[in-house]
Amino acid sequence: MADQRKVGVLGGGQLGRMLIEAANRLNIQVNVLDVANSPAKQISAHDGHIEGSFKDAAKVKELAQKCDVVTVEIEHVDTHMLEEVAGQVTVEPSWKTLRTIKDKYAQKEHLKKYGVDLAESIDLEGKGTEGLKEVGIKFGYPYMLKSKTEAYDGKGNFVVKSEADFDAAIKALGGRPLYAEKWADFSMELAVMVVKTKDGVLSFPTVETVHEDSICKLTYTPPRNVSPATSQRAQDLAKKAIAAFEGKGVFGVEMFLLKDDSLLINEIAPRPHNSGHYTIEACPISQYDAHLRAILDIPIQSYQLRLKEPAIMLNILGAATPDSDKKVAQFALENSDASIHLYGKGDSRPGRKMGHLTLTRPTLHEAERAIQPLVDFVDEQKG
Ligand code: ATP
Ligand code: MG
Ligand code: MG
Repeated sequence: MADQRKVGVLGGGQLGRMLIEAANRLNIQVNVLDVANSPAKQISAHDGHIEGSFKDAAKVKELAQKCDVVTVEIEHVDTHMLEEVAGQVTVEPSWKTLRTIKDKYAQKEHLKKYGVDLAESIDLEGKGTEGLKEVGIKFGYPYMLKSKTEAYDGKGNFVVKSEADFDAAIKALGGRPLYAEKWADFSMELAVMVVKTKDGVLSFPTVETVHEDSICKLTYTPPRNVSPATSQRAQDLAKKAIAAFEGKGVFGVEMFLLKDDSLLINEIAPRPHNSGHYTIEACPISQYDAHLRAILDIPIQSYQLRLKEPAIMLNILGAATPDSDKKVAQFALENSDASIHLYGKGDSRPGRKMGHLTLTRPTLHEAERAIQPLVDFVDEQKG
């Protein structure tokens, strides 16, 4: 069976690349809008790609003309052009959803309206230092100052510990549209990949995410020392959050598990997500298969999203030297049975996501034992 429909993707990074891996298996053509030789384009040889920026309205329009369904692998896109082309081409998820989610404050106001539990936030646009002071009075310290837009890997966040931090906070983020969030004193971070289809909302299993310097380092599925009931509550909360948005596709939902066992949403990504990479090896269909199926109305059943075997995912990040990530990949190739994914990104720099690896075992305990030498090796690269 060859599906004749063409999918367009805004962005050609690693998420687009893994989406193409899934599409290739179903013989579905994916046209990528990004710079030449971007990771996604490297594994997809046809003349349907477009060279340019996914922030360029004219290029988005050009892509739309060549496709049946347009989707995204990044939320920092031009939603106005997507709104304009939505009459001629299907845009999934909806441009309205993308517009709301790409502004983290608007995203949170939207979720609040739908009764979804999340950290309290205060708008700070146009308020300057006086605003920072008011937040301190209302939330106490520390609190988290966040850029509403263009944030990733913690770039856009600043921890305000006291009034003495105001100058540094303004210096770090002052030029950006800001809001503040009450500090979430979490015991663990969890994530759930949710799939929104034409028929309803499904979810993959709950994952524990471990961040280092605000960048995801490891994921554990199932989460360590978390009861099945709590994992189920996380899936239910994530599904409730995504039911509040229009459109189809995979959504990554990040959550805080607080010390009193309650759950709060941290943020939502309207696309496949780093914390869902484990699904490639550990679930019958991956988050990328699911995204493609959802936007093309190919049926998905909940049993296809189950965990076949416990899994740990380790990100391969740029570190102290330009070849640190290559050394990690080499070490893993030679010393483990992990599945290794390298993204073809070219130059490495500290913290840049260059690849990841996933290891599965019959129990999470065995997976933890098996991955330990790889984690140790990664830690040695920090320099
Ligand atoms: P991503 O790469 O996931 O998009 P981001 O730049 O959008 O990251 P956030 O997810 O908002 O950033 O925050 C990054 C990390 O900072 C979180 O995973 C969490 O560890 C911490 N953090 C964020 N908000 C809070 C909060 N309100 N209280 C405590 N810690 C927080
Ligand atoms: Mg984010
Ligand atoms: Mg985040």
